[in-house]
Amino acid sequence: MEQIRMVDLQAQYKRLKPELDNAMNTVIEQTAFINGPAVKTFQTELEDYLKVKHVIPCANGTDALQVALMALGLKEGDEVITSTFTFIATVEVIALLKLKPVLVDVDMETFTLIPEQVEKAITKRTKAIIPVHLFGQGADMNQLMAIAQKHQLKVVEDTAQAIGSNYKFNKQSLKLGTIGDIGCTSFFPSKNLGCFGDGGACFTNDDQLAEQMRMIVNHGSQKKYYHQVIGVNSRLDTLQAAILSIKLKELDDFNKRRRKAADFYDGALKDHPDIVIPARTHESVHTFHQYTLRIKNGQRDKLQSYLKEKDIPSMVYYPVPLHQQEAFEPFMEGTIELGNSDVLSKEVLSLPMHTELTNEQLEYITDAILAFFE
Ligand SMILES: *Cc1c(COP(=O)(O)O)cnc(C)c1O
Repeated sequence: MEQIRMVDLQAQYKRLKPELDNAMNTVIEQTAFINGPAVKTFQTELEDYLKVKHVIPCANGTDALQVALMALGLKEGDEVITSTFTFIATVEVIALLKLKPVLVDVDMETFTLIPEQVEKAITKRTKAIIPVHLFGQGADMNQLMAIAQKHQLKVVEDTAQAIGSNYKFNKQSLKLGTIGDIGCTSFFPSKNLGCFGDGGACFTNDDQLAEQMRMIVNHGSQKKYYHQVIGVNSRLDTLQAAILSIKLKELDDFNKRRRKAADFYDGALKDHPDIVIPARTHESVHTFHQYTLRIKNGQRDKLQSYLKEKDIPSMVYYPVPLHQQEAFEPFMEGTIELGNSDVLSKEVLSLPMHTELTNEQLEYITDAILAFFE
């Protein structure tokens, strides 16, 4: 049996090597490393795939979130509501722009924002909500969009872990990231659509926001050396764009492979009383960026050590919810109870998840987990 990896980029590269090498060589021979033709090509392909009017490529997912918030024209001290159970980037950019992050708890089953808690956290200063589609599961966009509309708030979707996921929004099937005002994603190598370095993008159907974001990623400029707003330098490399064009064609297959592995895990683990398998909602087609179990009765860390001895990697996403992070202490006065996230940080365990898992590997992993509890 091949060594089990948390993420197996090597096996995937081997499978797609001829096409990927060819695409990279073309860029190198053209030496159009910055804003080469492959960037625009990928942009258009992603617009078609997502059925969204505008894709704005940028340097990484964190920049995508920052650029999105900059485009909304928020003012210092404006409040942005998001999840406390997410990767740091979501909240970091809010604080960096001198906005106030307001952290809200997540549902124990879906790991995504609880709409009722979001509504409770709204004040006169609230301007935006950032739902995070964590682990490939869509947040409750039907309810969150209704709340946003009622209170006239902007919605920026953090789609870094859920690119390609379909979501039933008001009976319409849409791609996650295209429902709110802006969607943001990351092409970090281990994401469901990953490049060979850093990359990211914003999506929107709003022409004005698109124009604003295109300016912001380009030093606040539309015409070279004329600058209308304060911007940043955030570009997707031509090489990465060429790689992403090849991988985008495979994305539905990648996500299918992930779901197949998740089905196997579900089947083997669903009946154990100490294990909670990840929920799947009716609205959201889960794309399993992570396959994350909850391990009850304080046994998570012992199980993780046991698996390690059997050469089975696993990860804890995330060991410390963001409301407990030292960096965010100044923002946390008067914070409401975020008890679910505190519990989740002690219970969650993510199993190996990628496009190349074999049944033999999956069986080895699930047998080991069940053996631990015997
Ligand atoms: C990966 C990730 C990001 C940031 O993406 P980078 O490309 O690493 O900057 C943001 N939000 C979430 C939820 C992520 O998983």
